[in-house]
Amino acid sequence: MRKGIVVSPGVAVGTAYCVHEIFVRRDGAPLHASQVLDEVARYERARDATAADLRALYQKVTSQVGEAEAAIFRSHETILHDPAFTSKIRGWIVDQRQTAPQALHRLLDEYTALFARTKDEYLRERLTDVRDVIVRLSGHLSEALRPESKAIAGPLILVAGELLPSQVITLGEREVAGIVTQSGGGTSHAAILARSRGIPAVSGVRGVLRQIKNGDLVVVDGREGHVIVNPSPEVASAYRKLQREFFDLKDALAENRDQPAVSADGESIELLANINGLADASAARAMGASGVGLFRTEYLFLTHPDVPDEEEQLEAYRSVIRASPNGRVTIRTLDLGGDKTIPYLGHSREANPFLGWRSIRLSFEHPEFFSTQIRAVLRAAAPERGVAKDVRLLFPMITTLEEMRKVRGMVRRALRRLQQEGKKHAAVPIGLMLEVPAAAVCIESLLEVVDFVSIGSNDLVQYLMAADRDNPKVNHLCQPLSPPVLRVLDGVIKTCHRLKKPVTLCGEMAGNPRAFALLYGMGLRSFSMSPALIPTIKELTRHLTSRQTREVFEEVLQLKTSGQIIRYTADQIARLAPQLAVWDTA
Ligand code: PEP
Ligand code: MG
Repeated sequence: MRKGIVVSPGVAVGTAYCVHEIFVRRDGAPLHASQVLDEVARYERARDATAADLRALYQKVTSQVGEAEAAIFRSHETILHDPAFTSKIRGWIVDQRQTAPQALHRLLDEYTALFARTKDEYLRERLTDVRDVIVRLSGHLSEALRPESKAIAGPLILVAGELLPSQVITLGEREVAGIVTQSGGGTSHAAILARSRGIPAVSGVRGVLRQIKNGDLVVVDGREGHVIVNPSPEVASAYRKLQREFFDLKDALAENRDQPAVSADGESIELLANINGLADASAARAMGASGVGLFRTEYLFLTHPDVPDEEEQLEAYRSVIRASPNGRVTIRTLDLGGDKTIPYLGHSREANPFLGWRSIRLSFEHPEFFSTQIRAVLRAAAPERGVAKDVRLLFPMITTLEEMRKVRGMVRRALRRLQQEGKKHAAVPIGLMLEVPAAAVCIESLLEVVDFVSIGSNDLVQYLMAADRDNPKVNHLCQPLSPPVLRVLDGVIKTCHRLKKPVTLCGEMAGNPRAFALLYGMGLRSFSMSPALIPTIKELTRHLTSRQTREVFEEVLQLKTSGQIIRYTADQIARLAPQLAVWDTA
């Protein structure tokens, strides 16, 4: 048994599928002489398929973003056809009878050693490109190990060193039952995706890729943060029983989908969903959300084979609005950078990506691209007969008043142009995502230029505590239930209420029973969370009153450490809604 941190609750039993096997040494037996030519041919087919991918990407990105941005795919193709690269691989296959994946692995090792010796920043960056090419190539080589292949039977447990958001969303048709990763914190984007799909996940498990191999039976216990590899039949069957109990409880709770969210003393609460695309909008409806409080549009870009243009974006936003409960959707503009990157926006390696060229800062650098998105949203908001619409536009990672003014200027210009062009559109409320401490400190002046606020507590907590949300080593610090975070949240919520600006919280803590009860005690009545968590939280609301949660919050303000707050609130949840305790992870 191995211990990690819980990133998504629940229990799963399934067969391991290891992502990025290329990064794990598999020595294996050498090829037989009769297999060598076939192996070379296999490598060449994979190389041609990779080249075709890269050329297609180059064409599309050139036509939709620009030639300079597309150049990266040209240089990847140059690496792919580099004579030194090819002759080494061929040599190892032919002379040393290595398989193509083994040869690729060896080449990756060689480059890594070579680049590690250089101090030249430019050369170091090239290693990332070589790695990208090798990963793409190995994807074409390991057809048999793709998740959609039948080679691995049963529900999958995805095992990875680090899971990228783009991998969670391209798992194909196969059912993913659970996720185990070595790195990644509770609010990393891969974790958020797991939670939104209700997939149990544990991260921070050291050395997983070396300890688990494809086909192993794995238990993911997302209550305790345990991972068990090849358990005895008795243990496996006990966990399968627990897994069924979780499903049953989930189904029972989901039956409240058509009921309003109301507290024990009769107050209405807005429970909205965080979504990444159309499928999640339907999940939001199925789980009983009253709308979408956060549509993370970057997934549209991350999953698109090239770049969605204005018409494609318009169509995507329209479909999401139509599928969302009450047509209520808060659309957040592109929030790339940090752990979410797309190659054509010119990311270079940064020492501190979460403090660097990220989110709105990156959008400002690509004004054409950014305006296209704003235009598509304003057009999607245009009234349509028979379709309810309540669309809002939300800007991430706003740090200063100047940024917010600039954004408003861009929206005004987009509205004017759409008017001149005679294109149907609608003006929408403009909101700021409060996730930088500087904006929390100056919230009063920012409120003058916005129509609403959405608190992004995932980032707010990491910036306030100076603790990377993706790094399990500092997970104990990246903790929303801590005295400083709760004080800042309380201050922001009270200021918004005093100045009569609607405020929602859309970070992961909204779906955590303990944190929810405290936010409720601060007076917050609008929350946005992973759709899968809505039934539980709706059930919780029926057990809360304003008075009792205010008292709990006041008590918490007297506590001086996170540990005390976590223990105290856990006891309160167990007292107020004991049947929900299984969902209540720290
Ligand atoms: C947040 O930071 O709380 C948030 C909701 O945005 P994201 O998790 O996408 O950064
Ligand atoms: Mg954020």
